[in-house]
Amino acid sequence: MQSLKELYKIGNGPSSSHTMGPKRATEAFKNKNSNADKFKIILYGSLARTGKGHLTDFIIKKSLEGYKTEILFDTNFKCDVHPNTFDIFAYKNGKEIDKWRVYSIGGGSFRIEGEPEFVAKDVYKQKKFMEIRKYCEKKNIDLYDYVCEVEGKENITNFLSEVWTIMQKSINNGLNAKGVIPGKLKLKRKAKDVYERKLNYEMEDTQKIRLLSSYAYAVGEENACGGVIVTAPTCGACGVLPAALYYMKQKYKISDEKIIKALAVAGVIGNVVKSNASISGAECGCQAEIGTACSMAAGAVAYLLGLDMERIDNSAEVAMEHHLGLTCDPVYGYVQIPCIERNAVAAVRAIDAAILSSMLKEDCLVTFDMVVETMYETGKDLSTHYRETSEGGLAKKYCNNKFNCD
Ligand code: SF4
Repeated sequence: MQSLKELYKIGNGPSSSHTMGPKRATEAFKNKNSNADKFKIILYGSLARTGKGHLTDFIIKKSLEGYKTEILFDTNFKCDVHPNTFDIFAYKNGKEIDKWRVYSIGGGSFRIEGEPEFVAKDVYKQKKFMEIRKYCEKKNIDLYDYVCEVEGKENITNFLSEVWTIMQKSINNGLNAKGVIPGKLKLKRKAKDVYERKLNYEMEDTQKIRLLSSYAYAVGEENACGGVIVTAPTCGACGVLPAALYYMKQKYKISDEKIIKALAVAGVIGNVVKSNASISGAECGCQAEIGTACSMAAGAVAYLLGLDMERIDNSAEVAMEHHLGLTCDPVYGYVQIPCIERNAVAAVRAIDAAILSSMLKEDCLVTFDMVVETMYETGKDLSTHYRETSEGGLAKKYCNNKFNCD
């Protein structure tokens, strides 16, 4: 598994695979070919189908500011290797001088065909959660200690501390913002209203859902508006983990120091999914994004509740299991409907999964590793209509409604 720094990425929304990955790849290609006078990009697969709504063309143009740039959308190309594929060409005096085929593999990471050196190296020896669990149990250390052992305590703690600062900032920015989210859906930002709305006789359950949802909405709306967020594990699912952690911090007066340790726990869980399956909605549907985010948050909450490794394993498992089959069908390709609300639902679910798990005393028959493999196989079986193409599900239904047609 790679460093947690490859999982948590700080950057602008709205999509880790459609904006962050293409932006990073385009900038790397531009730096390699700074003598070029023109660039051409051809987007394929999900990037071609939902790139407009996800602002892929906008971010690529911005990354190539000052250069002549041509961007084409090819929806007919068959993406055999990865659904988020694009070609980028550099020209000088009308002659092609360089070319990359890029795969935006989710979470802001990318791979270049034939150039393995661009793939971040694995720093963790263990890949499966059970291997990690056994290693930690044998050494009598927790998951935070494990991360420190591999990545260096000071190094990773400073990094996670920055991650936590940005996550909290995105919550606060989102809770204080008003107005309409860019795009033709003209969605009103709701986080502030949800946070401020208090029922006269608010029950504890209602308060919990209201607070968690407002935090998740805040981050999801920041992301949809192109604000700065942290991929956890992706932009589309960036609200789940901060919402759950912020709720725990406020409700139980948990220190930032402890929350930072919980971020390490969540990072290991996200990394397990990334290494053994996928965190890309274009590859495996929303179960890979929101399902993973929910597992990360549930594991982190379990850690904050003082639960042992078996319960952390089980919390992450429960959170993923009940997202199996969840499709990715963003309306008009925007990371707005169903994405923002889905973050809120998953944040609530993450806390519930950890609490439920704390009550399950017997050995659990399904492990987190097992459900991760299942998620991957299920994702591969999903029709492309349900993998970030906006060709099926809610996206299709909404656009078929005569009132919503273009
Ligand atoms: S539906 Fe899920 S996977 Fe698809 S863009 Fe939205 S958050 Fe990402």
